[in-house]
Amino acid sequence: MKHKFIFITGGVMSGLGKGVITASIAKLLQLSNQNVSCIKIDPYLNYDAGTMNPITHGEVFVTKDGGECDMDIGNYERFLNKDIPRSHNITTAQIYSHVIESERQGKYLGACVQIIPHITDEIKNRIKKIANDEKLDVIVVECGGTIGDIESLPFVESLRQIRAEFGNTEVLFVHVTLIPSLEVVNEQKTKPTQHSVQELRKIGIQPDMIIGRCEKPLLEKTKKKIALFTNVNLEDVISCHDAKSIFNIPDILSKQGVTKSIFKKFNKTNIHNNKRWNEWHSIVNSLHGNNKIVKIAMIGKYVSLTDSYVSVVHALKHSAASLQRNISIDLIDSENININKLANFNGILIPGGFGTRGSKGIIKTANYAYKKNIPYLGICFGFQLAIVAFGLHYCKLDDANSTEICATTKNPVIDLLPEQNDVSKIGGSLRLGSNKIKIKKDTITYKIYKNNQIIKRHRHRYEFNKNYLDIYEKNGLIFSGESDNGRRIEIIEEPTRKFFIGVQFHPEFDSRPGFPENIINAFIHASML
Ligand code: GLN
Repeated sequence: MKHKFIFITGGVMSGLGKGVITASIAKLLQLSNQNVSCIKIDPYLNYDAGTMNPITHGEVFVTKDGGECDMDIGNYERFLNKDIPRSHNITTAQIYSHVIESERQGKYLGACVQIIPHITDEIKNRIKKIANDEKLDVIVVECGGTIGDIESLPFVESLRQIRAEFGNTEVLFVHVTLIPSLEVVNEQKTKPTQHSVQELRKIGIQPDMIIGRCEKPLLEKTKKKIALFTNVNLEDVISCHDAKSIFNIPDILSKQGVTKSIFKKFNKTNIHNNKRWNEWHSIVNSLHGNNKIVKIAMIGKYVSLTDSYVSVVHALKHSAASLQRNISIDLIDSENININKLANFNGILIPGGFGTRGSKGIIKTANYAYKKNIPYLGICFGFQLAIVAFGLHYCKLDDANSTEICATTKNPVIDLLPEQNDVSKIGGSLRLGSNKIKIKKDTITYKIYKNNQIIKRHRHRYEFNKNYLDIYEKNGLIFSGESDNGRRIEIIEEPTRKFFIGVQFHPEFDSRPGFPENIINAFIHASML
């Protein structure tokens, strides 16, 4: 089978939304009946995103098969409504460690092992293998970083080689750059783009399309200038201006002929699928335009960067949209929380988190939500600390805590997963990815999922200590979901409250626009009442 490749590079600076543009281009192809997927290349030296602080790098997105990935993988899943395996997030560390290990095993038969061809071959093989294994019509590969960076060079070189191997009708390069506007002169400036394309050419790549990130739509004269200086056809200079929502980007690109141009370059016939387009438009339109608002407070310690919780934020929006509500989400720092201000919210959500800092504020919040009967959803850390709060205030377990927060607590109601006792490595060692969860009949959770079994993604090292199960049950907490033949508690609920539910798993990773996740939907629903 022949696959087509689209390579997305970035110019001028990072943070242009290349991930969204990559996902949007893939979406356009999917809407034209192509079997498409995306790959994210991260040229950093971390093996994966798992060890990175979300405040500097955004959320760690967990794939079904347990990968701790760059948050762009989440964008791909949400745009394409498709699970993306961990192999689609390639890093420098993965490539080098594989090549070095192969060398140690003597697999290179005495050769001198070098960046070209050994590193570049490994990169190319991984990309081709994904396209083959998944029988893709088109694979869209986003190369992280900015052209000119030292660390992305071997990757960009590999992409160049793929083009040299297959030719211009099989491989396209799309370069995403910034077109700044200077207010004072009221002009869109093209010089940074010109320089960035020169950098690309220096390493042997002529882009086929330029997508300019800008505040306002690119003017015709700006497009002309870019076309002239970069050797790109005028119709392939595309404006990606600020939009109401990221889900409007496919439309913005499509209206400028991006799909048509890609098919033309690929020598393929475009099969515009009206039904798929209508479905997509109705999803996108549902995401805004409702005037009744539901106000949610989200409390955590990584609030200085919204991207730290990007999947939760999206999931809340998907649910609100499906319930014809607008949503406002206030991110509140758990370290400096003014608890009484929470009275102004319709619902309180505690997302995942790690470590001691800010944990007191979270425990207080969970108790406040319970006491004041404000709908509460605790995810992972938010589940664990709701159990701590309930233990402290309603089970007379003084000093109840998680051993993650206080190793010597008298009542370790949340404790290390037993299999973690001998684990000393931090990277990739949490309980990760999808696991089956059994749901008890006649519980609120059962009503929400309408099923006695669900499969959900995980990322944790601590869990509920079942030695305390009886005390909690006696005091009214219901353990409505469990996994691993009853060894682990996955869900708690308290039926006397409007909505007081905690889940050890991460429902946010399964929510897609138009297809909200059940428990998050139920939480928003309860917050509307
Ligand atoms: N820190 C907790 C644990 O490791 C919760 C993790 C999380 O919220 N993702 O179990």
